[in-house]
Amino acid sequence: MDKINSLTGMMDLLASKTSTEELANKIFYTEKVLQEIFDNFKISQIRTPSLEHTNLFKRSVGDLSDIVNKELYTFSDKNDRSITLRPEGTASVIRSLIEKKLDGDFHKLWYLGPMWRYERPQKGRYRQFNQAGVEILGYKEGMAEFEMISMVCSINHRLKIEKPTIKINHLGDNETKKNFCDALIKYLKPIKSQLDEKDLSKLEKNPLRILDSKSPQTIELLKDGPKISEFLQESSLKIMDLIVDTFSDECEIQIDHNLVRGLDYYTGFVFEAISSNLGAQDAYLGGGRYDNLCKQLGGKDLPAIGMAIGIERLSLLSNVLEEYKTSLSLIIISSNMEPKAYKIAHNIRSLNNNINVDVQLSDGSLKSKLRRANKDNSSYAIIIGDEELGSDSVIVKSLSDDDSEQTIMKMNDFNNFIKNLK
Ligand code: AMP
Repeated sequence: MDKINSLTGMMDLLASKTSTEELANKIFYTEKVLQEIFDNFKISQIRTPSLEHTNLFKRSVGDLSDIVNKELYTFSDKNDRSITLRPEGTASVIRSLIEKKLDGDFHKLWYLGPMWRYERPQKGRYRQFNQAGVEILGYKEGMAEFEMISMVCSINHRLKIEKPTIKINHLGDNETKKNFCDALIKYLKPIKSQLDEKDLSKLEKNPLRILDSKSPQTIELLKDGPKISEFLQESSLKIMDLIVDTFSDECEIQIDHNLVRGLDYYTGFVFEAISSNLGAQDAYLGGGRYDNLCKQLGGKDLPAIGMAIGIERLSLLSNVLEEYKTSLSLIIISSNMEPKAYKIAHNIRSLNNNINVDVQLSDGSLKSKLRRANKDNSSYAIIIGDEELGSDSVIVKSLSDDDSEQTIMKMNDFNNFIKNLK
């Protein structure tokens, strides 16, 4: 029979017991650390469905964005309704608050889960990937911006990210954005023959996005073009300076007036964190203010700022590994089914839930089971044979490199030993 493989750009994550350096282990651990950070910031979790009505993304992420234009996984369901696998998390969060009539309140929310975009797969770019996101809702421009950047610095610090840079920019209000776009179009139209096809299309449809063009020729042309800083209000420039002043003792923060984001809903303050250790896809998180989105989706006027963190990229950059907990490998040497031996494993887990217990379920020799216990980084093997069962005792064998001692313990002593293990 033919084998069935996973879809292109979608990967399985299988944690290894023997190396916490495996990408899957790093990914799962990064998710844990992020959740601890979100707790530190008193942010509550929200979990929304993976499937939404297609229109939700058309009306939020925007018809002009690459994500909606080319990358949506859209299907018809059995009732012929157009549904889409979410390409990002923000739109669903806002949809949910509007639906629950909570769009008039203040919220600090986080989410974590898979997203889908039909992109060309390459290193750091998948068709199914995981994002954690944070949305701070109800607060106008001000302290919420500081809270976001403070969180990015905490992520960099806790995961010991190497060479991180946080880029920040301000896209202004609607009027600023419009005036700047008009000036950009006026400047580029007469020289549009020098733009490549991609940038020409942006000029027509979404001129702001020309600013993050990868074409060297466009980058050169933009050097003499209008700058968004010339159109921004004093208060917008000031908040960027204040953020740089506040955090630059612990994070590298750069004001980059060419930073625009790939989703249409951003207004005001935007940011992205990059690391040169990632290669071409160098951004591991990004976000910004999106004060108009809630209204645009039929809700109230809800000021908001958020960010999305690419879990795979962040995990690649992380330099902290999960520490092994003390773990025991329980080896039962008997030809019979031994519920009494199994009950010992059950008791160990209830005596001390800080330790992990792997009951070896397979048949096999003591030697092969000890080998497996060693390979799985167990600290002790607990060996139970017929003799031990008869005398109400167990053998405790240390598996550490410098101590391979083996002790026979009566059940009472063994229980105390387990209670005191750290
Ligand atoms: P975005 O939602 O496009 O602002 O992306 C936020 C973060 O998600 C990026 O900085 C990346 O780290 C990550 N990301 C976006 N698209 C992909 C993808 N196709 N594969 C892996 N990570 C991605």
